[in-house]
Amino acid sequence: MTSQQSPARDLLVLSGTPVVPGVAYAPVMWPGARPEVPPAVDVPEDDRDAEAARFSSAAQTVADRLRTRAAQAQGAAAEVLGANAGLASDKAWIGTTEKLIRAGTPAANAVAAATEQFADMFTKLGGLMAERVTDLRDVRDRVVAELLGSPEPGVPVPDAPSILLADDLAPADTAGLDPTLIVGIGTRLGGATSHTAIIARQLGIPCIVGLTQAGTVDAGTPVLLDGGAGTVTVAPDEGEARLLVAESEREAAEIARWRGPGHTSDGAAIAVLANVQDGATARSAAERQVEGVGLFRTELAFLDRADEPSVDEQAALYREVIDAFPGRKVVIRTLDAGSDKPLKFVDHGDEENPALGVRGIRIAEGDPGLLERQLDAIAAAAEGAQSAPWVMAPMIATAAEARDFAAQCRSRGLVAGVMVEVPAVALCADAVLAEVDFVSIGTNDLTQYAMAADRMSTELAALTDPWQPAVLRLIELTGRAGTAAGKPVGVCGEAAADPLLACVLVGLGITSLSCAAGAAAAVGARVGGVTLQQCRWAAEAALAATDPQAAREAARSALS
Ligand code: PEP
Ligand code: MG
Repeated sequence: MTSQQSPARDLLVLSGTPVVPGVAYAPVMWPGARPEVPPAVDVPEDDRDAEAARFSSAAQTVADRLRTRAAQAQGAAAEVLGANAGLASDKAWIGTTEKLIRAGTPAANAVAAATEQFADMFTKLGGLMAERVTDLRDVRDRVVAELLGSPEPGVPVPDAPSILLADDLAPADTAGLDPTLIVGIGTRLGGATSHTAIIARQLGIPCIVGLTQAGTVDAGTPVLLDGGAGTVTVAPDEGEARLLVAESEREAAEIARWRGPGHTSDGAAIAVLANVQDGATARSAAERQVEGVGLFRTELAFLDRADEPSVDEQAALYREVIDAFPGRKVVIRTLDAGSDKPLKFVDHGDEENPALGVRGIRIAEGDPGLLERQLDAIAAAAEGAQSAPWVMAPMIATAAEARDFAAQCRSRGLVAGVMVEVPAVALCADAVLAEVDFVSIGTNDLTQYAMAADRMSTELAALTDPWQPAVLRLIELTGRAGTAAGKPVGVCGEAAADPLLACVLVGLGITSLSCAAGAAAAVGARVGGVTLQQCRWAAEAALAATDPQAAREAARSALS
């Protein structure tokens, strides 16, 4: 359901996917129009060189501008601006555009046509590549505006605090936002991992994506945006709205005061850990209150590598992460290549359905050396470190796979675990846990596979919701098996970043929560405010609900 009338006060409430919690009340603004490409008129042959030069100078100007902004930005914003500058100077895209110009197409039309060719290609590749289509179209609009002499497209700076609604936002738009003026963001498109979501999280702006009915709200209309609930209430009572904003500000202050280690209010230890992807992200996580690393996604460190990194090079990288948390828990995941994260040095072949294909641990079947060398590198990194890292494999589907993986880890002196991402493993969690020392639930993939819904799809966001009853039951089975076996069961998917769901997870028997470092304090503070028994009541209430929204409400009232 994407919109509903609240019967009590007959208010229009739109819903989408919650991304960044927080409540904001302000009038709506929409970004400025994107430039329109005029109809194409054939460029005379003699003018084509000059037209191509005009294009290359416009593309260069846009790339330089984005690079300058990248240099002034920080973290994820700097990264995405830098990546977009790279798109504006991409040789293949420039080459395709120039070819069209030399065949007589005006520069602006050539840019538009070349961009659509690449957008088609990216969409077919799916996953992270498909997410770049918005970035590519943003670069197109900037170059077209430059060619037409129009103002740079994007978000104008408002005079007063506003809530920004948009179809989708390009990173170049979001990266420059001022959180004191843009107090909330809602986009019609985009998933929980889109750039809008990443940057809103970094800037701490309450944000909702997949807000399919956003287009029904006109600029200037006052709305109440609740980034935690994923709702936008149109023209609410101003007094009530301001009270809700004040309450959310109080919660934010409590979060800022939170200090680890994580535990419930009655002292049950629940480790709050960070998801990282290299030494830099691990060191920056260590500056926050997290107690260690619950998921080191090693494949993300090698996305741009043409060749497999040597054992020594891998060992040095893994050691950087281990050293960021001396003496603490660090869980390293072996390469989860394939599907939305293809690696150039892994032969993925041609697959009809890569999400269900040879990805993660399944690659070791055809190329055992890749896994052996990675485990050798982890073992080398562990030598002389203050604590031994834990190692886990992604995409395990059977107890036999878990046994083989554990044997390979233990022969190198490593603590062995597996991820619970395939529903089959949750259903057989007792048998799998008998083979390993711990498991960690990857709720992103577990939800995708339980609901048969692509985790990247905006249209299917209601299905890829970890509050779905089927997903909660799979987690319950796993948690129960962990408690019976006396072995740790963590959660390291996005579900662990949702403070309310985190309490439910604890009630389901989860012993550690690993999420983006920026989300950790909110999770720790929420879990720290309730008892273990309250978490169990919340879990029971959520399990009894028949849909995600009802589960959220039931959990919230069980905890209040
Ligand atoms: C998951 O599937 O929940 C998970 C943590 O792995 P990734 O998001 O890297 O696929
Ligand atoms: Mg996964």
